[in-house]
Amino acid sequence: MRILITGGAGFVGSHLCDRYLEAGHEVIAMDNLKTGTTDNIAHLAGHPRFQFINHDVTNYIYVAGDLDRVLHLASLPSPVDYLNYPIQTLKVGSLGTHNALGLALAKKARFLLASTSEVYGDPLVHPQVESYWGNVNPVGPRGVYDESKRFAEALTMAYHRYHGVETRIVRIFNTYGPRMRADDGRVVPNFIGQALRGEPLTVYDRGQRTRAFCYVDDLVGGIMALMGSNVEGPVNVGNPNELSIVDFARLVIEVVGSDSEITFITPDDERTRDDPKRRCPDITRASGLLGWQPQVELRDGLEKTAAYFRTKLGLD
Ligand code: NAD
Ligand code: UDP
Repeated sequence: MRILITGGAGFVGSHLCDRYLEAGHEVIAMDNLKTGTTDNIAHLAGHPRFQFINHDVTNYIYVAGDLDRVLHLASLPSPVDYLNYPIQTLKVGSLGTHNALGLALAKKARFLLASTSEVYGDPLVHPQVESYWGNVNPVGPRGVYDESKRFAEALTMAYHRYHGVETRIVRIFNTYGPRMRADDGRVVPNFIGQALRGEPLTVYDRGQRTRAFCYVDDLVGGIMALMGSNVEGPVNVGNPNELSIVDFARLVIEVVGSDSEITFITPDDERTRDDPKRRCPDITRASGLLGWQPQVELRDGLEKTAAYFRTKLGLD
């Protein structure tokens, strides 16, 4: 197959490029390098079945030749990034998704939207099931990301219902692993970087909010299984091993073998406003319909991620 991956130079997108190439397909990564980097795909330079196109998907997307699959990952998913770039975040979720869907329609390609657990907002149902419609504040700081992804889901379903495009929607829960940007502000690179440097781990507020972390290889397996299936409604993909952020900080310190301490701080920007109190995926649909389950233990995934950051930050 010939596959386009928008956001292909990003963290998740670059791993998807690798895995589709390994499976024998032809891959085109499209990215404007806003939060991604060509470092993530440098090892693919010169690969006969790989191509990189530097393009902003909020503008009309032109790809020569046939396409069988369009996977739309371009986005600004870190809370720090979408606070800094609120309008680009809204544009890539809305205009970018519109262009990517238009391309899929024109090429008669199957389309996948990388959606997010943020569509559930600060959820009132726990764990989150796909049938839950969410609790999102449209005018809060997270609204730019959450609402753009909710709009993207609605647009995806409209292209499916009105134009008959084959569509898939994956709701991704917190995913981590090598190739995350060291300074993207998300909790995993923050804590691992701090632990490696022997700095205090910055736990926001009292650290009682929860998250459940999925290793990137597991996520990529789930996305590929969904893309190969006939499941049209949204599917959660994540690891249901939920823990509080302060417990996560303790685990990172232990795995890294660091003598860092934990410091409790309240960021002076809007970063933690509407920050979901509890988040954990219900993966009944993914396991029942796709036969998919996460395989990688948090401790093992953190070790691999810490090894990556150790090299990346020159701390070997
Ligand atoms: P990332 O920032 O590493 O990747 C996003 C990529 O999109 C970057 O390479 C960026 O340069 C590119 N991009 C942004 N705007 C663009 C534009 N206008 N045109 C072209 N490219 C553009 O983040 P990621 O963690 O790899 O996220 C990938 C996808 O998964 C996103 O859609 C995100 O919303 C979704 N997701 C990720 C997580 C997670 O925990 N990693 C959780 C939920 C959802
Ligand atoms: N967080 C934290 N310290 C940090 C970064 C994040 O305590 O240095 C918290 C944040 O408030 C949130 C959780 O960790 O409750 C996960 O944050 P992240 O930015 O990774 O993404 P989110 O899951 O909120 O989208």
